[in-house]
Amino acid sequence: MKILTTFIDCKKCQEKDKEGCCYFLNEDKYFAPILIEEEAQLLDKQLLTKYKNFHGVYQIKLIPSKKRKGYFVCPFFNEENKRCSVYKKRPLDCQLWPIVMAYSKDKKMIEIVCADKNCCPKLKQMNEKDFNKYKKHIVDFLNSQGFRKRIKKYPGIIWEYQKDYFKIGVLTP
Ligand code: SF4
Ligand code: SF4
Repeated sequence: MKILTTFIDCKKCQEKDKEGCCYFLNEDKYFAPILIEEEAQLLDKQLLTKYKNFHGVYQIKLIPSKKRKGYFVCPFFNEENKRCSVYKKRPLDCQLWPIVMAYSKDKKMIEIVCADKNCCPKLKQMNEKDFNKYKKHIVDFLNSQGFRKRIKKYPGIIWEYQKDYFKIGVLTP
């Protein structure tokens, strides 16, 4: 499976108590990462659940955090050493964040959209030029032939329309 190079090193961010994107408030549990069969096979499947009724698509089952009151955490996140225990094989959804693939409002297109850049400290630090380079890198990766085949096989991996996100590109059919 083709691997994305993200340019983002999450280690320093995850070490900080109030940062990292592996914690979720109850109302954000819907956004637990989703992943395809080939990615799921690399992880402990008992920590995953089927995602809706989509063939070969799973979602990580969040658990209550032992460290952050009122939060849920990914079960692959080690709250003691504050690291993702599966970092090298973490799902693409995690690698991409805060960029996601989502249907357009009219559902006719798949858009590549970004949540607020400031929600990721690493992206926040990027200057405009580097951020543009990064966006292009992601859009090119997602439009590569191998990747488009993956979407055809697992259409359930695309998120619903995200209204507060800004568009950085589209997936060519
Ligand atoms: S917020 Fe950004 S830097 Fe921090 S863990 Fe998530 S993707 Fe990595
Ligand atoms: S798999 Fe790793 S990067 Fe993804 S949410 Fe879980 S702990 Fe975070």
